[in-house]
Amino acid sequence: MATPPLRLRFVMSAKRVADLPATPGEVAIVGRSNVGKSSLINALANRNALARVSKSPGRTQLLNLFELADGRTVMDLPGYGYAQVPAAVRAGWPAMIEGYLLGREGLATVVALIDAEVGPTKLDVTTLAWLRTAGLTVAVVATKADKVKATKRDRRKAELADGVSLSPADVLWVSAAKGTNVEELRRRLLSWTAPPRG
Ligand code: GDP
Repeated sequence: MATPPLRLRFVMSAKRVADLPATPGEVAIVGRSNVGKSSLINALANRNALARVSKSPGRTQLLNLFELADGRTVMDLPGYGYAQVPAAVRAGWPAMIEGYLLGREGLATVVALIDAEVGPTKLDVTTLAWLRTAGLTVAVVATKADKVKATKRDRRKAELADGVSLSPADVLWVSAAKGTNVEELRRRLLSWTAPPRG
C-alpha cells in the first residue's frame, strides 16, 4: 500500500532538551553536515522548503522539532563535523546533543544518515559507536544512493554496512533526488517512532 507524504509540521527550535514539549514517540535524525538530511526531510514530507527552517541562520545548531499529524515527532539534530563554524560553537554541540540523546523521554529510534558514496567516515563510525554504547536504538540509512553507479552498488553496500557492523540488508539505501526508497523510509519512520515495548 502506498505511504503518502508525511505531514510534518515545524514545532520549535530548542537549546535544551528541557525546553521541548513531551512526545508520545520520537525519531531523531543525525548525520554529518551535507549528508543530505534536509533534502531527505523535504522528500519525506514532499515539501520543498520544510527543512529550510532547520538551516536558517541561528537554527543550524539547535534541536529542531517537527510533528507528525498524530502528535508523534521527528527531531532534526544539528549536522556534525561542519568545519566552518567556530570551534567554540562546535564544542557546544556535544553537550546539547548528548543531553538530548540521553535525556529525551519518548526517543524511540535514532536514524543515522550515512553518505552512500563516501561513508561511513571516521566521524560516522565514532558517532554510531557512541549511540550504541548509550543504549539507543539506531537505524542506518544511506543517502544519495543515486550517486553510486549500478555496477558498484553491491560492493559499496557491502563496504558501507561492514563499516558500521551491520549486514547490507539492514541498511536502507535512499535517494531524495530520485525518490528511491523514500516511500519505504516513510513507512519505516512511522514504525520507528513507536517506543520500544516492554
Ligand atoms: P544537509 O546538510 O545534511 O541538510 O544536506 P542537504 O540536504 O542540504 O544536501 C547537501 C547536498 O547534497 C546538496 O547539494 C544536495 O543537493 C545534495 N543532495 C542531497 N540529497 C541528494 C540525493 O539524494 N542525491 C544527490 N545526488 N544529491 C543529493
